[in-house]
Amino acid sequence: MRAVAWHGKHDVRVDTVPDPEIVNPRDAIIKITSTAICGSDLHLYDAVIPTMQKGDILGHEFMGEVVDVGSAHKNGDANGHALKVGQRVVVPFTIACGNCFFCEKDLWSCCDNSNPADNQDISDTLMGHSPSGLFGYSHMTGGYAGGQAEYVRVPYADTGPLVIPDHLEDDQVLFLTDIFPTGYMAAEQCDIERGDTVAIWGAGPVGQFAIRSAFMLGAERVIAIDHRPARLKLAEEAGAECLNFETVHILDALSEMTGGRGPDRCIDAVGMEAHGLSLDNLIDRGKQAIGIGTDRPHVLREAIIACRKAGTVSVPGVYGGFLDNVPFGAAMNKGLSFKMGQTHVHRYLKPLLARIEAGEIDPRVVISHRLPLADAAMAYKNFANNQDEFRKVVLKP
Ligand SMILES: [Zn+2]
Ligand SMILES: [Zn+2]
Repeated sequence: MRAVAWHGKHDVRVDTVPDPEIVNPRDAIIKITSTAICGSDLHLYDAVIPTMQKGDILGHEFMGEVVDVGSAHKNGDANGHALKVGQRVVVPFTIACGNCFFCEKDLWSCCDNSNPADNQDISDTLMGHSPSGLFGYSHMTGGYAGGQAEYVRVPYADTGPLVIPDHLEDDQVLFLTDIFPTGYMAAEQCDIERGDTVAIWGAGPVGQFAIRSAFMLGAERVIAIDHRPARLKLAEEAGAECLNFETVHILDALSEMTGGRGPDRCIDAVGMEAHGLSLDNLIDRGKQAIGIGTDRPHVLREAIIACRKAGTVSVPGVYGGFLDNVPFGAAMNKGLSFKMGQTHVHRYLKPLLARIEAGEIDPRVVISHRLPLADAAMAYKNFANNQDEFRKVVLKP
C-alpha cells in the first residue's frame, strides 16, 4: 500500500510499504477514506519529538471502512462492541484497551496497556509513567503505524472506533478523531462559569474547536490570539474577539479588555513551538537550536501572567520535554488551576457526534484543502510554511 512515511526533519515521503495485517484478536484493519494532517504532526515534521525512526508511518486523524477483523470480533468475545466488515468508523487517535485501571475511570489517554513495555521505558524515564499509545506519533507512544495511508491496523478495535451513520459525510465527522474532542476537552476542563471570559492562544484547528466549544459550554466572551489573518477571521465568525500578537501587546490588551482582572480561563492551544519575536521566545529558539532546550513555552508563560487570580489554565497544546522559566511562582501565588493532557477521545465520541448531528457545529469550517494522499509531501511543506492558507488539509487515499 501507499503510506506517508517520516524520513527526518522536513522530509516526509509517500512510500510503498507492506499492507497491515491482523496481529491480535481484537484488531481491525481499516481502509482509509479520509485522513488529516494535524498541527501536532508538524512537531514530528520539525523533528522536535524524540524517538521517531526513518520509515515510521504518520497520521493519527483518520476514518474509513472496516475490511478485516480479528477473531474476538467474530467469536463474540470483543470488549465493547464487535466490528463488522463493511462498517464505516472514525478512530480515536489515542489507543486504549478499555479494561485497565485508567480506561475504567474514563481516562483513556492514560491507558496502561496500549503502550508496549519496550517502548514504555523511554517515556517512563522521561515522565515517570508512560501515557497511552498513539497512532503515528513516535516510539515513545508505542511506535504504531499511523493512518496517513491506504490501510491501518487498529488495536483494541472493539473499544475505540465509532460507527458512523451513512447520512453523514467524512468531512463532517473526521475531526472526531482528535481536534474536535481536543478543543472541546480544553474548554470543558476550564470549568467555565456563566459570564466567564475565555482567552485562547492559537486559532488553528484545535483553537477553532476550543472557541466554539467554549461558547457551547457557556462562555460569555471568547478572545482569540493568533497572528494569521485567515485564522483570526474564522475565529471572529465564531463570535470571538480577536487579537493579533504581531500588532498588539497581548498582556496589556487582555488586561484592558477585562477591566484589569484578566481572563477567567486561559487555553494554550499552541504548545511547544510558539511563534513570535518576544525576547523569551527568541532565547528558547536559541536553546533549541544548540540542543539545550526542548520546548518554547512562550504561550504558557503569557497565559499564567494574563490569567485572573484563581482562574484556570487549560493546555491542549502539545509539550514534549522540559520547560524553562515558566513562572510557577505566579501560578502558585495567584491560585491558578491547571488542566491538561492528551485527549480522552473515547469519552467524547458519542456526545460530540450528537452535537454534529443536531447541527450545533459544522466541523467542515476548518478544512482548507482536500488533496490526494500522493500530495502529502507538498501538503506538509505548505502546512508548515503557510498555515494561514493551508489551515487544515484532508488527504484522500
Ligand atoms: Zn491531531
Ligand atoms: Zn486501558
